[in-house]
Amino acid sequence: MTRRFNSGYIEVIAGPMFSGKSEELLRRIRRARIAHQRVQVFKPAIDIRYAGNAVASHDGRQTESVAVHNSAEIRQLLDPAAEVVAIDEVQFLDEGIVPLVRELADRGIRVVIAGLDMDFRAEPFGAMDQLLAIAESVDKLTAVCVKCSAPATRTQRLVNGQPARYDDPVVLVGAAESYEARCRICHQVRRSGESRAEV
Ligand code: ADP
Ligand code: ZN
Repeated sequence: MTRRFNSGYIEVIAGPMFSGKSEELLRRIRRARIAHQRVQVFKPAIDIRYAGNAVASHDGRQTESVAVHNSAEIRQLLDPAAEVVAIDEVQFLDEGIVPLVRELADRGIRVVIAGLDMDFRAEPFGAMDQLLAIAESVDKLTAVCVKCSAPATRTQRLVNGQPARYDDPVVLVGAAESYEARCRICHQVRRSGESRAEV
């Protein structure tokens, strides 16, 4: 987004896995730095893809970030001179992130946040529904469906190669888990009790 508000504002970059949210966040961070703005980058400690202290995209680009366990830690670790605050994987943070980003924007800060809009069940993920509502700017990105190559809006969770069940726990001990980008038609969620599904 190139247009600037006179006040602070909230930008959300949403979409499924592989839709380029981290790439887009990194692009906006890079541009803000070119504009000599002070940028602070956070991400939940839960996302350990590539590096503990970096926001990384699937194409290998990355920038240094502060790993936090909750929204209160962002508040504590906030650089008072930050003009831009970027947060990746924001769906993993608690609901306290909503009043916090409001407060930052009220203070004149540009807040850029990226996250999954939906979980593997295609339901709103964490506080993303509220963040999407309060943002000045929302970009929903799509990936490429691995099944039919249509634009993918959803994240398919696979457990041992099968679509995950609706009530499968977030952590499945001893199971091989993977995620794919899929469109609405190709996305599958097994109902609990359903033993087999076409993948
Ligand atoms: P996100 O943060 O949304 O998970 P990333 O920015 O990390 O996305 O990665 C996006 C990159 O992932 C794309 O530029 C592309 O190189 C790669 N990629 C791998 N699989 C897919 C897919 N199914 N659809 C689109 N991009 C994909
Ligand atoms: Zn498809």
